Amino acid sequence: MRFENTLDFARRLDADDTLKDFRSKFYFPIIHGKEAIYFTGNSLGLQPKTTQDYVLNELEDWASFGVEGHFHARQPWLSYHELFPNLLTKIVGGLPEEIVVMNQLTVNLHLLMATFYQPTKQRYKIICEAKAFPSDQYAFESQARFHGFNPDETVIEVGPRTGEHIIRTADILSAIKQHAHELALVIFSGVNYYNGQVFDMKNICKAAHEAGAYCGFDLAHATGNIELHLHDWDVDFACWCSYKYLNSGPGGVAGAFIHQKHIGNKDLKRLAGWWGYEKATRFQMEKGFKPIATAEGWQLSNAPVLSMAAHKASLDIFEDAGMKNLVVKGQMLSDYLFFIIEELNRTSKEKFIEVITPQDAKGCQLSMLMLKKGKEVFEALKQNGVIADWREPIVIRVAPVPLYNSFEDIYHFGRIITQVINQ
Ligand SMILES: *Cc1c(COP(=O)(O)O)cnc(C)c1O
Repeated sequence: MRFENTLDFARRLDADDTLKDFRSKFYFPIIHGKEAIYFTGNSLGLQPKTTQDYVLNELEDWASFGVEGHFHARQPWLSYHELFPNLLTKIVGGLPEEIVVMNQLTVNLHLLMATFYQPTKQRYKIICEAKAFPSDQYAFESQARFHGFNPDETVIEVGPRTGEHIIRTADILSAIKQHAHELALVIFSGVNYYNGQVFDMKNICKAAHEAGAYCGFDLAHATGNIELHLHDWDVDFACWCSYKYLNSGPGGVAGAFIHQKHIGNKDLKRLAGWWGYEKATRFQMEKGFKPIATAEGWQLSNAPVLSMAAHKASLDIFEDAGMKNLVVKGQMLSDYLFFIIEELNRTSKEKFIEVITPQDAKGCQLSMLMLKKGKEVFEALKQNGVIADWREPIVIRVAPVPLYNSFEDIYHFGRIITQVINQ
């Protein structure tokens, strides 16, 4: 499609957008008396207007039933977590039995590494991306130490080549080959939080398996954003949070995926809790852990129903909108944003924004390296009711998301920046 940098054109795209009505299902922060242009759905998604009712229902049932709510609540709490796998299958591309909603993201990362990172003297290395999200870096480092290995020799980071911003797939695959004999685990994000690069999960996973290693993904910035096929890609495990693109509230309950080929394997080591115990006999409270033969077998604790209620409110909206439709619109939004930024560069005297997100491997987020006037641009955006985010040293991350952002949002974003440049 040929884009145009005009308000009319942006409005025409919005008029043709089959998802346009979903915008009214969310609350927007108010800035200077007006709804903000919210571009940080990659950091904390907006609140659906239905969330309060979903949470309130559980508070009411708690008030009405006390402990009996485990059985008599409108959605009995004993099985509340069972509502989620069917809602998440299309979002992550997994079978229902491969998916479980539990804990929080970094907790799940550690739990899954407890199973899938079993280093030996021969095979102990972890390959990951350079500049992984800090929590992940600390998880990898501490897991290495936990098993008695020196993180400096254990955690192998693959980074961009000098002068480049994205990590080449070929470099990842060759690092996996190079370390194959000592490799225990390959773990990447699905979408890098800083530059927005989407990794080639299918081929990374294939290379990891050829090297005799397990492969896992942290999908914090991928879930609810890009197309995922965890089952078909043969991914061993994955985890994600629900408060970014999944709009389930600050610190919301997280998710995990464990491939079908592993879920029935009772010999896999794991850290266990009572909620992972076989359901039929769980309440006999006997000694000797017997895991559920699905991803639920990795659960530790009973369900945090209040945060799960918020998660359910949001996933019901995803179900209505359809993940496929969301991916298509998300790509179009970020393509339009790409175009607008190119236009800004073209019409100013010199290039002042470098988009470091690869155009052919991106989700909703674009990361703009500000070659000039970075802070001024960021300040002007803020003053004009645009919420984006600043990452040191000079990157502005912008994520128009398909459920509640419009093409007009992007047009205004470009217009505000133009004013700063022309000053
Ligand atoms: C957002 C994010 C986290 C945050 O972890 P929490 O445990 O949810 O606080 C971790 N890893 C990645 C890759 C993230 O993007």
